[in-house]
Amino acid sequence: MSRHSEDGARYRAARQRFLADNPLCWICGHGGADTIDHDPPRAVHRVKLDLATWRPAHGVRGCPVATCRRRCNQERGTRPIEALRAAFVPAMKW
Ligand SMILES: [Zn+2]
Ligand SMILES: [Zn+2]
Repeated sequence: MSRHSEDGARYRAARQRFLADNPLCWICGHGGADTIDHDPPRAVHRVKLDLATWRPAHGVRGCPVATCRRRCNQERGTRPIEALRAAFVPAMKW
């Protein structure tokens, strides 16, 4: 159990640092990201502290931008980012 919580503390510290350096959500592009998304998803790529797979995203609190308010990480789930980005811009005019 203690090894588990040490890992958790290390992960939280690394996450906090990462989000301080990278506040822009990689899905909607707004600031205030408060969770780490994983690309490729963690189920596929199991190395939790591999920062190369980390992407800042909005979690359960959602995006702070009033016109957005997305819970990007939850909405994405394990879908590929390309599919989600396509769903995010339905009204794109060419
Ligand atoms: Zn977002
Ligand atoms: Zn947003």
